[in-house]
Amino acid sequence: SSPRAPVVAGNWKMNPSTSAEAVALAEALEAVDGREVVVFPPTCYLDAVATKANKNVALGAQDVCVLAESGAYTGAVSLPMLKSMPRVDYVLCGHSERRSLFSDDDDAIRAKVRGALDAGFAAMLCIGETQQEYELGVTDDVCALQLAKALEGVTAAEMANIVVAYEPVWAIGTGLVCPADVAQRVHSSIRQRLRATYDSSVADSCRILYGGSVNPSVIDGLMRQSDIDGVLVGGASLDAATFGQIASFH
Ligand code: PEP
Repeated sequence: SSPRAPVVAGNWKMNPSTSAEAVALAEALEAVDGREVVVFPPTCYLDAVATKANKNVALGAQDVCVLAESGAYTGAVSLPMLKSMPRVDYVLCGHSERRSLFSDDDDAIRAKVRGALDAGFAAMLCIGETQQEYELGVTDDVCALQLAKALEGVTAAEMANIVVAYEPVWAIGTGLVCPADVAQRVHSSIRQRLRATYDSSVADSCRILYGGSVNPSVIDGLMRQSDIDGVLVGGASLDAATFGQIASFH
């Protein structure tokens, strides 16, 4: 009996290709009792998804620009802009694709976490090692460092609005799911870090999600692990039925 309500989150990334498809996907999303279902659509679809999605499905933004609240920042979307959208509760911070393709470094990620919290959002913070780091056996160190840098200045009270997602880079979009027992060990190590940095209450209440090629065939095994409190799903969140199957894990 974990005190932590499970989270099943869907990161749509740069999908689907049209707003009509985004609306159709939003309309097909199902809420599940006792679980927090969250989706992260592309920002340009947030308004339409907010209008169409089940009210018990929470919404988040995949990224935010924290350089300024408004002004000459072509292409950027600010925290006040997200705040003005209906139903947006989360901001995704530190996703490996943002780190590798858009040069989001630890400082940028820390600033996004800080901005999200100050603006009243919850931050879903992604951390995780590369394949090379995994093979070198430095997973725990990499995760601890990413966690420490992103959470620098975040108070114990503010940790109520942080969800951590452990996403091994080698498992994202590759079909290679991290074995449940391996993921459990990393989650336990992350929780231990939170215990050392904050206290037991923060460590025991913080939701730590697993992400990386999650699909219906692996969800039950993952969710049986004591320190895995949910999942962040990429590809498999683009089909409402598949995502619904994941959200209805046993
Ligand atoms: C992700 O985008 O966070 C992710 C885990 O993707 P996928 O499920 O497709 O591996």
